Formats: sequence, structure tokens, C-alpha cells
Amino acid sequence: MTPVQQEVDAVIVGAGFAGLYMLHRLRGLGLSARVFEAGDGIGGTWYWNRYPGARCDVESMDYSYSFSDELQQEWRWTERYAAQPEILRYINHVADRFDLRRDIQLKTRVVEAIFDEAASRWEIRTDRGDAVSARFCIMATGCLSEPQLPPPFPGLETFEGRWYHTGRWPHEGVDFTGQRVAIIGTGSSAIQSIPVIARQADHLYVFQRTPNYSIPAHNRPLDPEHERRVKANYGEFRRAARVSRVGFVVKSTDTPALSISPEERDREYEERWQRGGLGFGFSFPDLLVDERANETAAEFFRNKIRSIVRDPAVADLLAPRDYPIGTKRMCVDTNYYDTFNRDNVTLVDLRRTPIDTIMPKGLRTSEREFAVDAIVFAIGFDAMTGALSRINIRGRGGETLHQKWAAGPRTYLGIAVAGFPNLFMITGPGSPSVLSNMIVSIEQHVDWIADCLTYLGQRRGEAIEASLEAEEAWVAHVNEVGNATLYPRANSWYTGANIPGKPRTFMPYIGGVGAYRQACDAVAADGYRGFRISPS
Ligand code: NAP
Repeated sequence: MTPVQQEVDAVIVGAGFAGLYMLHRLRGLGLSARVFEAGDGIGGTWYWNRYPGARCDVESMDYSYSFSDELQQEWRWTERYAAQPEILRYINHVADRFDLRRDIQLKTRVVEAIFDEAASRWEIRTDRGDAVSARFCIMATGCLSEPQLPPPFPGLETFEGRWYHTGRWPHEGVDFTGQRVAIIGTGSSAIQSIPVIARQADHLYVFQRTPNYSIPAHNRPLDPEHERRVKANYGEFRRAARVSRVGFVVKSTDTPALSISPEERDREYEERWQRGGLGFGFSFPDLLVDERANETAAEFFRNKIRSIVRDPAVADLLAPRDYPIGTKRMCVDTNYYDTFNRDNVTLVDLRRTPIDTIMPKGLRTSEREFAVDAIVFAIGFDAMTGALSRINIRGRGGETLHQKWAAGPRTYLGIAVAGFPNLFMITGPGSPSVLSNMIVSIEQHVDWIADCLTYLGQRRGEAIEASLEAEEAWVAHVNEVGNATLYPRANSWYTGANIPGKPRTFMPYIGGVGAYRQACDAVAADGYRGFRISPS
């Protein structure tokens, strides 16, 4: 591919759900755009995360674009929770249906985006030598797109078997038949893949540092009657999602957990456990703000684990105790706990016996050696800031985003950054993003950015930039709302705790999707309050 030298209205970085819809909207505004995508296919998260059992934990009828009624009417999901291949097919269908591919350049990583103050343009360079000058630079780089690589374990280079990261799974798949396999990590990716790998492998060793709370998905073929009902009224279904707390509608109540009897509480928990999915976290309004209320849900969970896992010592190890339920992202599984009843699965407690080293034939903890043929690292991502921090982004005065965020990300609304004019982030830190149905949050940001560019055009403005005061006020608000909850109590990727050396701050905005949308809309209605517009 010959490197391009080009001038466009906008560069979009990333061709996942966010980048594709942004491109579609910019075209609608008559703006020229070029999308750069590191992968050799589109789809972002759903392109890379092909590990066994990969599946969305938001229901299919919710986890899809709403911007085109024709699209949402014609597409047919097959399951309650769509598996990765089906979501990737959907994204590819969207790209074809809206003729998006001609502006997307694959296998190209953006390495640099530098704001030229004199020209008021972004100069963007890629690892293939492309140099593109753009008025707007839009980061659609994803929140969980930068895997923790290389895995931080000594001796890995000596390992003679094959190793994999769940977030960079080989496209041809992996057959573990007859192999002894180690999996490190017990987050969502591990919890989905463990039951599948256990069915294939000769033996599976699960290395757990922190147990997670996981709820059954009760996945099943999509009920045609449910599909018909939603499609008959998709507009209202989407509207309700947009003003909801997390971007999909969940049954909720105003009754605090501690105001009712233990039996009534458990009835509610049981009903939600039987329904399956993330709705469990909304059983009572005080679960994420009152430790005692939270403990009632946590204990319900621990009892469930004890009732499923036959070996009491293993059940005990799988039962989380040292952080409130919901403050690390809850997992949604198919047969996770039951998998520990299999003879070919061993749970290893890394808190008691940490990994010393990886060796040519396996790995060694402080207690013993494990001979394995393959290692699966399900150790997660440098979340929310990882992808952005790997691009050399320089704003006014040559300040890098990396420098600006040295003590943690600072944004206005999770969309813009003071000192970086005409740079936008889709679902950036400081927005609900990972605490919501991502598609709802992506569409909201893309629409907001498109409206903002229209406004700028109408006023013949050259650049729009968040003011430092507005940014500071928003960061303070994000922290205040986050600190009023139990979330900061957990060592989670929400706070950067999973990456050694990463500054600790609660990155997403917990105020709720509906309330956040109102705040963004009010900013726009007020002439983009908190932004400065420079005339051309
Ligand atoms: P994760 O939630 O960050 O889990 C990583 C796991 O690896 C944790 O158990 C962690 O233990 C462990 N770990 C990390 N570094 C380690 C080390 N040095 N030594 C030992 N253990 C280590 O990552 P993930 O499972 O990939 O999921 C990330 C997020 O992606 C999820 O929370 C979710 O938002 C999203 N996701 C969604 C789905 C879905 O839709 N169903 C599926 C997969 C992922 P600690 O807890 O002790 O740090």
C-alpha cells in the first residue's frame, strides 16, 4: 500500500462500532473523512476478542445500532446474548450496507497526532508512513482495546509451548484437545472461556488472583415473540434505553435493600438470578452506596456458589470477599461455577501461592510446578486510556496528552480535552462508557459531536476547545459522584489498579446514561457552554 499524503476534514482513529457510525454521520454532514484501523478487519473489540465462548453480556436487541430503523428491522439476531462471530458479522453487514469501507484504511496504526497551532489543523501520521492533515481528529479507539501485553511474568520467553492473550486470539482458533492448559485471570474473558476450554483440554489449571461475581446468562435462542414485540415498538424501546441508567432498561425499585426482610430480599435476588444477566446489580437502589446492603447481595452470591460447587474448599476460594459486589464489572457466564466440578479442572489460589516464574515446560508458583502445553492470559486491558496513551498526541504548546494525564485522565464530558482543540473522544474517560451499554453511549457521543461540528460550521468557527475551568469542574464532578459510591473500594480496571504504575482514579462517569445525556444536551443547548470557539 502506498503511503497517502492527504487533506481531509476529519481523521477517525478506529473502525469499531464508534468509528463506523462517526464516519456515517460525517458523510451525512458532507465532510470528508479517513478512518485508520490497526486490525486487518473492522469491528474493534469484536474483531480482536475471539477467545472461546466470547459473547456479549448485553442482550442482542439492546446491543445494536439504533440510528437506522431499516437496519434494526431487517437484522435478525439468533440468541438472547450474541456470540462474537455474530456481532462481527453484524458490524460487517453495517459497513457494507452503508458503503463505509471505501474510507477505511486497515492494517494501519495511527502513531502520532500533532496540533499545528498556526494552521489550526491536526497532522496525523501512521506506522505505514501516511501523513494526513485534518481539521478534526476523532478518537474512536475503544475503552478495552489495549491488552495487557506482554504479560508481566518472568520467564515467559523461555516457555516452549504456545501462549495466547484472550484479547488477541488467533483468527484460525485454537484446539486444546489433549493439552494441559493454564489460564491466568478470572475476569469476564476467563469466565466465558474456562467452561469451553475445560471441555476440550486434557486438564485446565485456573490461576485466580481475585474471585469474581458471575451470574448465569441463561442464554438461549432469541424468542421470536420478544423480537416481534421489540421490533413493533423499537423507537420507544431505544428511547427508554437512552434515558435509562445504564443504556438498557432493567427492572428497578426505590425500595432500599435493608428496609425489607431477609426473605423478601432473597426472593428478589433469586428472581434476578433465575432471569440471568446484569439486571442482578439493580435489585436494590442502595447496593452500590451502602456497604451493609451490598453485603446482603454478596452473601446471596456466595451461597449460590456453595450450592453449585461440590468441593467446599474450591467453593470457598471462588467466593469473593474483599470487595463489594458490583464494584468490579460483574461477569455473565454459562456454566462457570459448575465447571469446577469437573475432574479435569484445578483452581489455584495466586493470593496464597503467587506465580514465581514461567519455565520452558510450564510455570511455578511459590508452592509447586505445573507442567502445561499452553498458557492463556486472560489478564485484561490497559482500560480507557491505554489506546490513547500509545499515540503521540500533542495539543497546544506541544503538550502531550500523556503529560496532561500523568495523574489520571482529565476531560470535559469525556469528549474533549482543554488544550487539544478540535480533538474529540468517543466514550472517553469521564463519560459513562464502560458502565453502560456501549452502543447507546457511542451513538450519543457520535451524534453530539456531529451536532457540535454543525454548530461550528454555522458560526464559521475554526476550532472548538474545552476551557480549563469547564474541564476542572467536570473532573471534580466525576470524582464526587464516583466517591459517593462503593466503586473506589475495589482494585479494578475502572480505577487503573490492574496496570502496575497506572495512576489510581475512578475513570468512568457513574452519574447514569440518562442524566449524563441531559448534561451534554444542556451544554449544547447553551451554545456549547464551557467550550471556546475561535473564529476562522
Ligand atoms: P479483567 O476483568 O481485567 O480480568 C483480568 C483478570 O486477570 C483478573 O482476574 C485479574 O485479577 C487477573 N490478572 C491481571 N493481571 C494479573 C497478574 N499479573 N497476575 C495474576 N492475575 C492477573 O479483564 P477481562 O476479563 O478481559 O475483562 C475486561 C472487561 O472487558 C470486562 O470487565 C468487561 O467490561 C469487558 N468484557 C466483556 C465481556 C462480555 O461482554 N461478556 C467479555 C469479556 C470482557 P485481579 O482481579 O486480581 O486484578
